[in-house]
Amino acid sequence: MQVYKFGGTSVGSPERMRNMAEILRGKKDLIVVLSAMSGTTDKLVHITNLLYEGMKKEASEACETLREEYSLLIPELLADDQTRNDGLEMVSSHFDYIRSFTLKDFSKNQEKSILAQGELLSTALFFLLAKEIGLNASFLPALNFMRIDKDGEPDMFYIEENLRRELKNHLHSDLVITQGYICRNAYGEVDNLKRGGSDYSATLIGAVINVSEIQIWTDINGLHNNDPRYVPGTRVIRELSFDEAAELAYFGAKILHPSSVVPARQKDIPVRLKNSLQPDDEGTIISSAYKKQGYKAVAAKDGITVIKIKSDRMLQAYGFLRKVFEIFEIYRTPIDMITTSEVAVSLTVDDDTNLDKIVRDLEELGTVEVESNQTLICVVGDFIAERTGTTVELFNALREIPLRMISYGGSRHNVTLLTDSKYKADALMALNQELFNTNKHV
Ligand code: ADP
Ligand code: ASP
Ligand code: MG
Repeated sequence: MQVYKFGGTSVGSPERMRNMAEILRGKKDLIVVLSAMSGTTDKLVHITNLLYEGMKKEASEACETLREEYSLLIPELLADDQTRNDGLEMVSSHFDYIRSFTLKDFSKNQEKSILAQGELLSTALFFLLAKEIGLNASFLPALNFMRIDKDGEPDMFYIEENLRRELKNHLHSDLVITQGYICRNAYGEVDNLKRGGSDYSATLIGAVINVSEIQIWTDINGLHNNDPRYVPGTRVIRELSFDEAAELAYFGAKILHPSSVVPARQKDIPVRLKNSLQPDDEGTIISSAYKKQGYKAVAAKDGITVIKIKSDRMLQAYGFLRKVFEIFEIYRTPIDMITTSEVAVSLTVDDDTNLDKIVRDLEELGTVEVESNQTLICVVGDFIAERTGTTVELFNALREIPLRMISYGGSRHNVTLLTDSKYKADALMALNQELFNTNKHV
């Protein structure tokens, strides 16, 4: 069995859906995980923001505009009159549901129910198309098996048990279609795996039922050596190890959800990144095979806050860092990067939900400075301790960029640098030029 996940652009229009159906034609033993059509989740987020602000009329208008967009897709997507009617009714019921929230008070868990509508719509539409064009497909609601626990982590035991049970009802189907991104939480409410979470759904599904390969189909020929949205002339990397891919995903390579490599690495299941616009291209394979090769790729993660704690009490003392870490533990805030000197420690977080409380508690330990709008830049490759010159090459590439923090030696695969977000594009381009566009590191 295999899992194929198709992202927003791959389901983004009737033409793209038909193209996807052709990729799937003739395939067997496949679980097909779909994202919402591109742009839809953003629009649903907009509607929930309006509802939070009490702007019910505007939310209702935005809902009706989106309803119209979906209704117009139906005649383009489906040929048969009866199927078209089914499609229009389905679209109507989802938008009536969204609209019902504009008539009452709004709360946090209702937000998740609205955000889930994108994947519920795309899968329902594709299922209608699949049936109409004669694919042997069946429909498996993700809310029947995908679940996170009280800490927001996937409940692997629950997922495995429920997915295996559900799949027994689909033994005669070649393709089992399900939603990415959406899940239930520990209280049974509709929830999600965070933005971009369909990749994570795919690898979780693949891991719990031990598939032979997980394919992530998107709009680019695999993982590139730098962010193609900022840097021209990036190149596809054909092979990556799980560790390298996990670092790149975690540190901002948008092509993969930050946690999505973890379940595949645990079960040693290869993940292939493919382009649905060029299905014959081999894409990128991520596996436990490790190909040694100097610098591999660069990724960047925005929205980082740096916190500096300065204290004389740190001088020659032990236990200081434990007290600092405990504060982050209390507020369940992961630290990404850390550097220390004799009297100060700087660390970065990307989740600033509890920042005020964290700073208040840290002030008990010393003087605290906070700076937001920072970007982490992660250079991934093979940086064995014996290799000389790595830091010279990186600093030389970044000689014009003010660097706020540097982390080297934490892992063999990763050097991380922190800079103000306004220097991000220049830093990515400079690294690309120095590390990949000269012959000396190839
Ligand atoms: P999908 O909707 O299929 O999940 P995403 O937009 O989430 O697609 O991810 C694909 C996009 O990720 C690409 O179009 C590209 O712009 C962006 N991207 C950022 N960094 C990289 C990278 N290192 N390699 C490839 N794509 C990247
Ligand atoms: N539709 C969700 C999002 O836009 C999940 C995904 O596309 O992976 O974030
Ligand atoms: Mg994505």
